[in-house]
Amino acid sequence: MNATEMLVDSVHRQIVAKVEPMTRFDRSSFRIESSQTAALAVVAHERHDVAFRLEFEAANGKLPSDAKALSSDEAVRSHMEDCLATAEEELPQRLRAWHEDQASASGSPLLALHCYRPPGTYGSQTRCDKCAGTGKIECHWCRGRGRRDDGMCNYCMGVGDSGCDPCGKTGYRHRLARLRCTVESKFRLELPETADSVRRGLQAVAKLQQLSDLAPVGLREVSFGAARVEREFRATLPVIQVDVVAAGERFVVHGAGVQGRVFDFENIVGKLLQGDLERLEQALKTAPRWPSRALAALDAALGAFLSSGVNESIGQIDPRKTAAVEAYARNRLRGAASVDYAVRAARAVRAAASRVYQSAVLLPLATTLIVLVPCCVLLIASLVDMLKHAAPLAGLAAACVGVAGAELWARFRLGRRFDAEVASRLDRVLLSTWTLWAWRAALLIAAIAAVMPWLYVIVFLVDLTGPRRP
Ligand SMILES: [Zn+2]
Ligand SMILES: [Zn+2]
Repeated sequence: MNATEMLVDSVHRQIVAKVEPMTRFDRSSFRIESSQTAALAVVAHERHDVAFRLEFEAANGKLPSDAKALSSDEAVRSHMEDCLATAEEELPQRLRAWHEDQASASGSPLLALHCYRPPGTYGSQTRCDKCAGTGKIECHWCRGRGRRDDGMCNYCMGVGDSGCDPCGKTGYRHRLARLRCTVESKFRLELPETADSVRRGLQAVAKLQQLSDLAPVGLREVSFGAARVEREFRATLPVIQVDVVAAGERFVVHGAGVQGRVFDFENIVGKLLQGDLERLEQALKTAPRWPSRALAALDAALGAFLSSGVNESIGQIDPRKTAAVEAYARNRLRGAASVDYAVRAARAVRAAASRVYQSAVLLPLATTLIVLVPCCVLLIASLVDMLKHAAPLAGLAAACVGVAGAELWARFRLGRRFDAEVASRLDRVLLSTWTLWAWRAALLIAAIAAVMPWLYVIVFLVDLTGPRRP
């Protein structure tokens, strides 16, 4: 295989890896017609700006054990200023050493640890003037006795002193100083004219490391400042343009870099699944809004649609959350399906899932109300003496059992209408919508309405016919 054939093969493999796990189509459903290579010469500008700063911090209490003690604030300040001057003086040398240490141009990024040797934390502590290091101030109402002539001192509540505020009751104050270093790095690519998808993909390259993953990078220029290093690199990226024919349409897919990385799959998956989507939308249009039984056309269209896994994932996103749909299409699918396809697919599959669930839930609902609920009521009636005072609770419990039973039955019925894989996908789409909750609420209200009158009639009859208590 020569270099071009390897690139074509790589692009082909990337398309297969997108299409096969996501859809019901396989590699035989598209073919590569022709290809064309070009070389893209890019220039990368990298700039690191280093800044030092002294941080001072004052706090209550004695100096922490990890800080080195100096005699006074003044001593701390002048020592830290010396440290800063040393760091600034050594910086150019360190920047050169970092640059030369990088065996290849793609070495580690410049970090603070390359720029200085942190001197550690210095500080000084002073005893609090106000309380002379005791942390307490004598109560001036009772002069520290805690009592006054007329009884306990109310000002200090009999303690005799109050905590010293300026030192936070610790008796000491301290100041700490540290030398901090920050590196601000900028990276920018200069791109010649190229295909849009390649341009967008390369514009997302934010580090030298990412560029060198695409192609070998060579240093062109380096310049050092007092607190700055600027480097310029050059890389030549092969760009392959591949014409793919799928679903009767022609796509132009680009791969960039020595691995022929595809940044955008140009809606290939969306196009392959377009027919399934249109059939589902059509079936939804012709199906009644409130179907009372299984509709063969809707079942068939939904079954075919969900046999492509990507449609299940899309169906779990609420299409009204535009940002989530866009993020999914652009980042997760890398353009294999367009945002437009994702929005339409999410709408259609969620609507279809709700509608087929409804067609499956009506029979369990009716049965629950006609058979299951009275059965529960009769069961409760046999225990009525025990439950008389808890009749509403017992009714609610019976209704909940009825609702849970009806939902399980409806989901089981629905599952039997599709093959196992599609059925579990449909179930997951349903769970991500509000459909089940809407039906649970409707079922519960209906079941309570059906149960309660029965319960009260039974309680009343038992009261009437039961043995009278004195
Ligand atoms: Zn104090
Ligand atoms: Zn007092």
